[in-house]
Amino acid sequence: MKGRKRILVAGGAGFLGSHLCERLLKEGSEVLCVDNFFTGNRSNLLQLMESPYFEVIRHDICLPLNIEVDEIYNFACPASPLHYQKDPIQTLKTSVLGSLNLLGLAERLSCKIFQASTSEVYGDPHLHPQTEEYWGNVNPIGQRSCYDEGKRCAETLFFDHHRQKGVRIKVGRIFNTYGPRMHPNDGRVVSNFIVQALKNEPLTVYGTGNQTRAFCYVHDLIEVIIRLMSSSDTITGPINIGNPSEFRVLDLAQEVLQLTGSSSQIEFRPLPSDDPKQRRPSIHQAQQVLGWEPKTSLTEGLKQTITYFQSVL
Ligand code: NAD
Ligand code: UDP
Repeated sequence: MKGRKRILVAGGAGFLGSHLCERLLKEGSEVLCVDNFFTGNRSNLLQLMESPYFEVIRHDICLPLNIEVDEIYNFACPASPLHYQKDPIQTLKTSVLGSLNLLGLAERLSCKIFQASTSEVYGDPHLHPQTEEYWGNVNPIGQRSCYDEGKRCAETLFFDHHRQKGVRIKVGRIFNTYGPRMHPNDGRVVSNFIVQALKNEPLTVYGTGNQTRAFCYVHDLIEVIIRLMSSSDTITGPINIGNPSEFRVLDLAQEVLQLTGSSSQIEFRPLPSDDPKQRRPSIHQAQQVLGWEPKTSLTEGLKQTITYFQSVL
C-alpha cells in the first residue's frame, strides 16, 4: 500500500507557508517544515504540532539539506519590504543559494518543486494588467532589488534546472496576498491598516494612496497552488496567481476604517523608493489551465482578517 506523501515546505513557519502546511496535513500528507524563523513564528504552527505527521526543522536554506521527500515547496524568503530590506544580502542569498540547494535536492530525488515567485518580477510595470509574457521593469540597484532580482534569478535557476537537468518545476507568481497569521508587525499594507485601525492609531498611507494593488485572500491562493502542483508536468508556469480586483491603497484604508468602525485618521507618509504605481494580475492562464479563480471578495477577506487580529492583539 502506498504510504503518505512526504512534503517539504521551506518557509513553512511564515504566513503563507503555515497555511500550506495546514492544508497539506488535512489532505493526508506528512509535512516537514524547514524554517530559520527570520520572519516566521512558532505560534503559526502550534495547532499543527499536535499532528504526528508534522515536523519542524530549524534550518537556513542557504545551506544544503539532505532529506528524503516526495515534493518540495519553496516559500522561504521574507516577503514584506520592511523585513527583506533589513538584511538585503541575506534576502538575495535566500532566493539564490536557497533555490540552488532545493533544486539540487529536487534533482537528486526526481521530485516536483514549487517556487513562490512574485509579481515583483514585473517591477514597476509598464504593462497593465500584467501577463506572464511581460518581462518587467525592475531597478537592479534599488532598495527593492534584493527581493525583486533575487526572485528573478530564482526563476532563471528553476527554468535552467528544468531545461538542463529535467527537474520538474512549478513557478507561481504570487500577487499581494493577505489573511489571518500575517504578523502584526509584518509591515505590509493590509496588516498595518487593520492593526492601526483596531488600535485607533492613524492609518499610514504612503504617497498619495493612488497607487493600486490587487489583494488575494490566503485560502484562494493556497487552493491554486495545490492545483498547480498536482497539474501535469508539462505545466511549469510561470503562472500569475492572485485576485484581479484592483484597489487604490486609499480605498483599502477607507474600507478597513468602515469595517472596523475605527475612529482612526488617515496620515500621509513619504512614498518608499521604487514603489510600483499600478499592479493587477491577468489570471487568464490560471483560469484556462487550472480552472481556478478567486472566490473571496476583499470585504469578506478583510472581515476574516480583522477577526483574526482582534483575537491576537
Ligand atoms: P513570511 O515572511 O511570512 O514567510 C517567509 C518564511 O520564510 C518565514 O517563516 C521565514 O522565517 C522563512 N525564511 C526566510 N529566510 C529563510 C531562510 N534563509 N531559510 C529558511 N527559512 C527562511 O512571508 P509570506 O508572505 O508567507 O511569503 C512566503 C513566500 O511567498 C515568500 O517567498 C514570498 O516571496 C512569496 N510571496 C508572498 C506574497 C504575499 O503577498 N504574501 C506575494 C508574493 C510572493
Ligand atoms: N503601504 C502604505 N502604508 C503602509 C504599508 C504599505 O500605504 O503602512 C503601501 C505601499 O507603499 C504600497 C502598497 O501599500 O504602495 C502595498 O505595500 P506592501 O508593502 O503591502 O506590498 P508591496 O509594495 O510589496 O506590493
